[in-house]
Order: sequence, then C-alpha cells, then structure tokens
Amino acid sequence: MPKPVVAVVGRPNVGKSTLVNRIAVTREAIVHESRGVTRDRSYHDADWNGRDFALIDTGGIESVKSTDIFAPHIREQALIACEEADVIVFVVDGSTGVTDEDEEVARIVRRQDKPVFLVVNKRDDPSTETDGLWDFYALGVGEPRPLSATHGHGTGDLLDEIVAALPESADEPDDDTLSVAIVGRPNVGKSSLANRLANKKRSIVSDVAGTTRDSIDSLIEWKGRPIRLVDTAGMRKKSQVHEDVEYYSLVRGLQAIDRSDVCLLVVDATVGVTEQDQKVAGMAIDRGCAVVLVLNKWDLVETDQGRDEVVSSIAQRLSFASWIPTVNVSALTGRATDKVLGLAVTAAEARASQLKTSQLNDLLAQIRESGYTKSEKGRRLKMMYATQTGSKPPQISVWCNAPDLVDDNFERFVENRLRGRFDLTGTPVRLRFRKKA
Ligand code: GDP
Ligand code: GDP
Repeated sequence: MPKPVVAVVGRPNVGKSTLVNRIAVTREAIVHESRGVTRDRSYHDADWNGRDFALIDTGGIESVKSTDIFAPHIREQALIACEEADVIVFVVDGSTGVTDEDEEVARIVRRQDKPVFLVVNKRDDPSTETDGLWDFYALGVGEPRPLSATHGHGTGDLLDEIVAALPESADEPDDDTLSVAIVGRPNVGKSSLANRLANKKRSIVSDVAGTTRDSIDSLIEWKGRPIRLVDTAGMRKKSQVHEDVEYYSLVRGLQAIDRSDVCLLVVDATVGVTEQDQKVAGMAIDRGCAVVLVLNKWDLVETDQGRDEVVSSIAQRLSFASWIPTVNVSALTGRATDKVLGLAVTAAEARASQLKTSQLNDLLAQIRESGYTKSEKGRRLKMMYATQTGSKPPQISVWCNAPDLVDDNFERFVENRLRGRFDLTGTPVRLRFRKKA
C-alpha cells in the first residue's frame, strides 16, 4: 500500500519549500530567494505521530497570464500533484493580500474533491496572526489558518489535522515501491533516459542558472508496479555550474544509490566503461544495491569495431561483476528503453530472493563431490551446511570447519556456483563463511 500523499501547492514565494522543509523528515528541498525558482515537484518523507506520508512540493502554480516561460509547465505539474494527492495544502502569503495568482490556484484546488487546508503563511507574530485573515475566506477553499513556516508556530496543529484527514489503513511502510537510481558520468544521457522512463513531463529541463534542486524523485508506474526514480532531476545540466563536475556527479550518484534498490549505471557507449564507472559499480555492490548497465547512445555506435570496444571495456572494467546485465539503448530515439525497467525489476526480484536451505545444501553437496576445496598445512576446508541469513541482497552463511582457509578465489568460486544454480542476475550476493562450533 503506497503512502498517502500530501501535495503542497501555491503560487511562487509564499513559503511552500520552507513549510515542506519544516515538516519533512528528509530535508531536501532548497529554498531560493528569487521568485519562482522552486520548480517541478519533489517528494519527501514525513511522519507525524507515527503516521507516515509523502509530501509533494510543487513548483508553484502561476497564472496562465504570467510572462514566466515556465508557467504552463508549472501549472501542469501542480495539477498532476493535486490529482495524485490525498490531501492538499494550499499556501498563501499572509504578509500580502489575496492575488490573482492565488485565485488561479484556488480554482484548480476547488476542482479537486479532496480535503484542502488553506495555510496563511508568514504570520510570524502570534499577536497579530489573525489580522485580515477573513479576506482569505474569499478563496472559497475553507477556513484560513495562520502559520509561520520559518518560526514553526501553527505547524503542529496543521499536522494533527492533516494526519486526521489521511485515508485510513494506508499506514503500512511503502515497501513495494522500487527505488531506482540513475547514475553515471555527466552527459551520458541520464536525464534523457529519466525522461524516457518517466514518460510524463515530470522534470522540467531548463538552462536557468541556479535552479538545481538538491533531490527530486519521480514516481512512475511500470506494469502496475510503483517505481521511484531517485534523484533524476538533480542530474540536470545545472550541476555543471559546480567546479568539479565529475566529482560532484560521483557524490550525487552515491547518495542516490544509498536510497535505492537498483542502480542503473548509464554509460556513453561511444566512450565505454570508464574508471569512474568501475568505481561506482563497486560502490553500489558494496552497498548491496542491484546494478543494471545501460549502454546509452547506441545510435552513435555504428561500426563493429565500436561495438567491440564497448564490449571489451565492460569485460575489462567490470570483470569482477560479470553478473551485471547490460542493455544497449538510445535515450534519444527510444531504442530499447522499454527494456530498462524490466531489467531493473528482474534485478530487484533477484535481490529479494529467498533461497531454499535444502537447495543451498544440495549445491554444497555437489561442490563437495567435485572435490574442489582449499587446504593448507594438512588442514582441509570442509563446508558443512548453508542457509540464507539476510536479504536485499541475499546473504548466505556457510558453516565450515576452517573459515580462515577461504580466500577471494574460493569465495568467487562458491559465488559462481551459486549463480549457476539460482537466478541472481543483477544482484550482489554476500557470502559469510562461519566456523561451525
Ligand atoms: P516557495 O516558492 O513557495 O516554495 O517559497 P519559499 O519557501 O522558497 O519561500 C519564499 C520566501 O519566503 C523565502 O525568502 C522564505 O525565507 C520566506 N518565508 C517562507 N516562510 C516564511 C514565514 O513563515 N515567515 C517569513 N517572514 N518568511 C517566510
Ligand atoms: P546527463 O548529463 O547524463 O543527464 O545527460 P543528458 O541527458 O543531459 O544528455 C547529454 C547529451 O547527450 C544531450 O545533448 C542529449 O541530447 C544527448 N543524448 C542523450 N541520450 C542520447 C542518445 O541515446 N543518443 C544520442 N545521440 N545523444 C544522446
């Protein structure tokens, strides 16, 4: 059961991001001073009195008449947010009066048949917080409630009421949503791929400096399954204002991987797998994240030689993880992009595998029969039994007489046998050799 969703809408600069930052557990929205900088939508986790919910912070609904070039997009984003939401928080600026833009937002909000909370923000002084509050009744969305997002007063009451208005029995953890990170070096086509996968106009790619948001996730659905594309908009070109683009994208990628089940490692097929990609793959594996290698810009690789070069760069740099599935795509033309999420889901399923103890022990018996083992100074490694002791990714504990005899080679040998026996495509596995007491 997905978490209930609370959308925070309102024209730019009324304090939506400030409010979301105050409420959210994960503080990821950035507050900008200049008008309209907070665009698009970001998802945040929040909980109040033990109730979990997701907050959508929208880019602000602007008047259609506005000269802002983004206005129609932003309006569209906010509309989608309202449609997705279970509860709407409509924020207005209590330090000014009602504006035409507020009226515009009110029209969108009134069309939704959902609980709406009208927040009159920037009422920093509790002694005058109700002054002129009645004007806001004219918006026709219910009782205006004074609040100060910066100081915090009024937010507790608001949260109590939001939580009370959330749909019943939707409070289980959001664990069937698959989190997928799209990572890779700058310019390999991450945003283009994200937009392909999202299919909707979820992220607005723009060249306006400073519009970088710290983190924006897109929620999409694939064959009925909810998928969260982690931090996709954060990978926009604006990150290039940073001095060290490579380093910055590496850090971003790792942060995204930390929040994800599967990592789509996007590589420019005309360049091949680089040292940085190798590093990222290694870190994803260390963190227990499944990996799918996406060779993008395949449309540019026309010659057999070019193809051979890519393949050999994979063999060379990712030899330690030959279980990573690869897909050749073009985010530009759309070639094979529909396969990407299928591979991600398969990898996630492998990562969640529950391997039967009896089957694991059959495998151990086979290995014993093959006679291959380790020995040193008259001691001989004997594996007695195995069982799965952890999940996501699978952790297999193998009880044996002498774990100290197990070296990397032997561990790889066992892992390969395991992969030969079970379908573990795309997921790392962890082996623990323990001494049988
Ligand atoms: P958004 O565009 O609606 O997301 O608005 P922001 O959250 O970016 O806030 C716009 C400006 O209003 C920022 O300069 C905030 O510091 C300021 N602001 C937000 N909430 C309050 C408040 O409760 N009181 C005051 N005085 N300023 C606020
Ligand atoms: P990001 O920095 O990784 O997010 O990369 P972008 O998605 O911004 O893409 C970088 C550049 O590569 C843009 O000019 C894209 O149009 C281009 N691009 C992305 N995917 C493809 C592709 O599959 N084929 C070709 N020929 N160009 C692509």
